[in-house]
Amino acid sequence: MAIEQRSEVGGRRSVGHVIALAGGVGGAKLAHGLAQILQPEQLSIVVNTADDFEHLGLLICPDIDTVLYNLAEVNHLKQGWGREDESFKVLVETKRLGHDAWFRLGDRDIALHLLRRHMLDEGLSLSDITSNLAERLDITHPVVAMSDQAVRTIINTPEGELSFQDYFVHRRCEPIMLGMTLQGLAQARPSAAFSDALVEADLIVFCPSNPYVSIDPILALPGVQKTVAAKPALAVSPIIGGAALKGPAAKMMAELGVEVSALGVARHYAGVLNGFVIDGQDHDLTAAIETLGMHVHTTDTIMQDKAGRVRLAGEVLDFAKTLGVKEPA
Ligand code: GDP
Ligand code: CA
Repeated sequence: MAIEQRSEVGGRRSVGHVIALAGGVGGAKLAHGLAQILQPEQLSIVVNTADDFEHLGLLICPDIDTVLYNLAEVNHLKQGWGREDESFKVLVETKRLGHDAWFRLGDRDIALHLLRRHMLDEGLSLSDITSNLAERLDITHPVVAMSDQAVRTIINTPEGELSFQDYFVHRRCEPIMLGMTLQGLAQARPSAAFSDALVEADLIVFCPSNPYVSIDPILALPGVQKTVAAKPALAVSPIIGGAALKGPAAKMMAELGVEVSALGVARHYAGVLNGFVIDGQDHDLTAAIETLGMHVHTTDTIMQDKAGRVRLAGEVLDFAKTLGVKEPA
């Protein structure tokens, strides 16, 4: 395998290509770290779009925007969504005008959404729009929408089906998750940039994103899981010490009757991955994960700051060099 990192002194060398699969918060952190090490032509960051929804005539792409804002280093550090140095004048005014604004969108964020709306109206695809927005934000690494067709996560709950943002933002993930469906999947295919990257890729990295609602929609696109399963592929566990750092991943696992641990995540990806990165806290799970056919790397996987993101990304790439090429499934 030909994954080489840019050395401190040597500049770039001939390299393979890495695909990073990402959702929002957890995914964006590792993708940002990888982008500090790999050249733009060495990395494709493929982002989940199954959380996307329409709001006040705008197309909201929560995971794409989290990745864009993190790569551009304009993200809100504590909040996990939206931009740093943000104001909410439009939100305050729409509330004053009597609109139930349960979805918060800042003023700068709205500017990006107006441009996305404008480009959609001009007939551009979501992938083209995403590349265009990345360029406007001075991002040099490709940020790739997983698909140009709308795929929408629906959460099945005892109260019936809820659209993802209704469940996630409006209902704060309180309803029990019985399962999920991906609306529109039958008509969807990977975007052209994703398909091309899949052919080229020497390594697939599953960022520490929610396995169900961030990574699975990407894998569910036609042909993706099969291709990933045939190439060196590793994940960084989003579950550390039996808990998620943020978001509903652990709650979902418990409700779906899955062991809430890094082992539970590894079981979910069994047959698809040959590498798995766990936190030092979960070291005792190593042998059990290895029985799933994965090599295990243990390290500090909590990315506190930019240096932590770069360090983990570097370890992931070093670990990847030890992974053999899998036999095609
Ligand atoms: P969302 O779409 O914004 O919910 O974000 P993702 O699906 O990309 O990421 C959510 C997951 O990221 C959660 O399960 C968190 O536990 C995980 N996560 C967030 N920060 C970190 C981190 O620094 N390290 C690791 N290993 N996981 C993280
Ligand atoms: Ca998301």
